[in-house]
Amino acid sequence: MQYRDYGKTGKKVSLLGFGGMRFGEIDNHDKCIEMMVHAARGGINYFDTAPGYFETKSETVYGKGLAELRRQNLPYYVATKTFQSDESEIRKEVEASLKRLDVPAIDFYHIWCITSLENWNERKNKNIIKTFQKLKEEKLINHICVSTHLIQNNIAELFTEPVFEGVLFGYSAYNFKTREKAFDVVEQNNLGAVIMNPLGGSLIPKNPNLCEFLLKEGEECNKENAVKAALQFLWDHKPLSVALVGFSNKEEIDLALNAMDTYKPRTEAELAAVKENASKSFEGICTGCSYCDDCPQEIPISKFMDAYNRKILENDDQHIYNQLKWHWNLSPEIAGNCTQCGACETACTQHLNIMERLKYISG
Ligand code: SF4
Ligand code: SF4
Repeated sequence: MQYRDYGKTGKKVSLLGFGGMRFGEIDNHDKCIEMMVHAARGGINYFDTAPGYFETKSETVYGKGLAELRRQNLPYYVATKTFQSDESEIRKEVEASLKRLDVPAIDFYHIWCITSLENWNERKNKNIIKTFQKLKEEKLINHICVSTHLIQNNIAELFTEPVFEGVLFGYSAYNFKTREKAFDVVEQNNLGAVIMNPLGGSLIPKNPNLCEFLLKEGEECNKENAVKAALQFLWDHKPLSVALVGFSNKEEIDLALNAMDTYKPRTEAELAAVKENASKSFEGICTGCSYCDDCPQEIPISKFMDAYNRKILENDDQHIYNQLKWHWNLSPEIAGNCTQCGACETACTQHLNIMERLKYISG
């Protein structure tokens, strides 16, 4: 296992992290604990969860798993999150998380899921920063972090907030253009940077061809090679601290650990060349570059096209609507505001039929 600095906190974290949102059998505690121990023995020391994962069951099982790690002298850091903004609600939530996790302090506590800069301002107006600082003074949390689905300049703006010591955001081989700018601020402000959805949810294992551009000559384009290549691509981003994988079973942990064992870093120039070459693997897919996001009707086109990607890659319309609702907090009706002016299609780097896709989404 390789380790990197988590920003300026002095903590060294494993490049591969354990995400607690995908346990295959959450009610089988022995199995979940076994997975956590297996990961820690492989060198993983960053364990992320949230009260919302499996309706608090993930934190509960983490409590038992972390106790076992302590018993076996396996080192770890634990990260969790809160959606709350009011001091009293945050206190209630942090106390409940500490109890479930069975730890005296949370290493990395996240202001969870900032959906827009307005949403961030609303939370700030409720004194969330002061509340988090108090929790830190009281040693209930060790570091103040934020997680978000913001993109492009907005994510960069959010991350300049001086109180943050670490950030958590989605980034993967198939949509890296959406949030590349985040890494500039991460470097400038020396922040810990944790990546969620490194496999695009499960899109990359289900569609290995998305990672064809990362494979070596002669390498077979299959699930295993795509997953390994996708993780290694992320680790090539030097400001990144942890790529967080939501594991369902021990086999998935082994595959990711194998990616680590066989990891040979690219140089900056090699990484840039690989990115340059990427679009040939993405025919018909929105890469999130946002060149189209200047719609006179103010339709957030790249977000709608990201949701439409789910139809292509998962072959199920429901995934479009889930992505809109849970990831982007958008209603499908907004797509109906399109006047078919065509400006976005002219701008689209992937030459997508955006108008047709919007019409499909709005029904
Ligand atoms: S075609 Fe529709 S979505 Fe595209 S820029 Fe014009 S109004 Fe906006
Ligand atoms: S629709 Fe086209 S221009 Fe817009 S974000 Fe996607 S790939 Fe980029």
